[in-house]
Amino acid sequence: MSVSIALFTQDLRLHDNPVLRAALADADEVVPLFVLDDGVAATGFAVPNRSAFLAGCLADLDAGLRSRGGRLVLRRGPVAAKTARLAAATDAVSVHVAAGVSGFAQRRESALREALGDRLRVHDAVLTALAPGAVTPAGKDHYAVFTPYLRAWRSAQRRHPVAAPRTVRVPDGVPDGPLPQARPDSPGLPEGGETAGRARWTAWQVGEYEEVHDDLAGDGTSRLSPYLHFGCLSATELVALAERRGGAGAEAFVRQLVWRDFHHQVLAARPDAAHRDYRPRGDHWRQDETELAAWKAGRTGYPIVDAGMRQLAHEGWMHNRARLLTASFLAKTLYLDWRAGAAHFLSLLVDGDVANNQLNWQWVAGTGTDTRPNRVLNPLTQAKRFDPDGAYVRRWVPELAHIPGAAVHRPWLLAERPDYPAPLVDLDTGRFLRGRSR
Ligand code: FAD
Repeated sequence: MSVSIALFTQDLRLHDNPVLRAALADADEVVPLFVLDDGVAATGFAVPNRSAFLAGCLADLDAGLRSRGGRLVLRRGPVAAKTARLAAATDAVSVHVAAGVSGFAQRRESALREALGDRLRVHDAVLTALAPGAVTPAGKDHYAVFTPYLRAWRSAQRRHPVAAPRTVRVPDGVPDGPLPQARPDSPGLPEGGETAGRARWTAWQVGEYEEVHDDLAGDGTSRLSPYLHFGCLSATELVALAERRGGAGAEAFVRQLVWRDFHHQVLAARPDAAHRDYRPRGDHWRQDETELAAWKAGRTGYPIVDAGMRQLAHEGWMHNRARLLTASFLAKTLYLDWRAGAAHFLSLLVDGDVANNQLNWQWVAGTGTDTRPNRVLNPLTQAKRFDPDGAYVRRWVPELAHIPGAAVHRPWLLAERPDYPAPLVDLDTGRFLRGRSR
């Protein structure tokens, strides 16, 4: 009996998984392997919210494999060494893995190649709909502006989704290893796994996306980001499903998935954009631990900002509009280093993703791919446009829950002042109201 290994990374699914399909096609039996990577733990990336979600993903993947006659094999330690040891023990003819984009994933792939030689098979367009580098502008290694990328993306050849396997045969005598368990920081964390992700897609109305996606209280976006981050859902399959559905909502949704591909191709070409300004503009960021702490705690005195930060703490997730305005408040209004804000997001976001988080932060901070790097999102204007009745604020800021209508956005004007902080900064003058000036 020949054996191959399907090494799962950020592709924790059975549907549309080219890694698993190729491993199954290569041999009589397959070891579906996941290695809990010490290296990820060492970087601090394995925070409780994502670890808990990951535990759910792995349990669901194991259950899905078992229903097809297989099971998930788990190991803990350095990925390349653990995979090579298993390949030697099973005499595997090949090891299949998805191409990753971050510097970490690129180093992992090099280590795997060193350990396995030409038995390693790396598959493109597993984590994204279009592989990084599949389209490039003349003479450059990646697109630095979204709109031309979108045009190129639309005219590029993409792979078709592949079906989930009916059966998976795993060789006898390979110990399973225990499934991990973890407790999240956020009480409202969604359930991990392909089953929950597919159920979410089925229950969600993509047709309404175009009209509702910026309505903070309406909460009408897909909430599929954690499932995409861990690969419980395939971007290729979601694009195909949305295109089949058609209409303005589906088109707007696909456009967001192209943003995801866009950021991944930037990071694949410039892994150091995870921590270094992509387009340096000579910024001298302020350092202020008190203001940073107020922002993190959702106590800036601007209710719309504080609502976003408290949603993040409670759910490990935040609405995109809230991410934009809270990030702008930190990087543009307070002029604190975007890296501090990005690190806080990554400490809680269940969908926390190096490509999407760091490059969106850079976009907001004006050091990234935004063609209008000086734009500032005024929280009061944002509140008026995207939470006109104040329902989002009342949902997340209990101290203000009794204030009706749009008045909730300016509690400092109320005759009876609620037990809520004064604004950290005066937006008109830039003067800091709680003690210091810029
Ligand atoms: P939907 O609106 O339903 O969009 C569908 C999918 O498209 C999302 O799940 C996501 O995969 C992708 N997408 C949507 N918007 C973007 C975008 N601007 N950039 C890249 N992909 C996008 N997204 C993450 O997945 N992980 C992060 O760590 C992350 N950090 C962010 C930090 C900041 C400061 C900002 C402004 C945005 C960040 N985003 C991040 C992008 C976006 O906010 C989330 O993807 C989105 O809010 C997730 O909700 P949803 O699944 O309902 O999205």
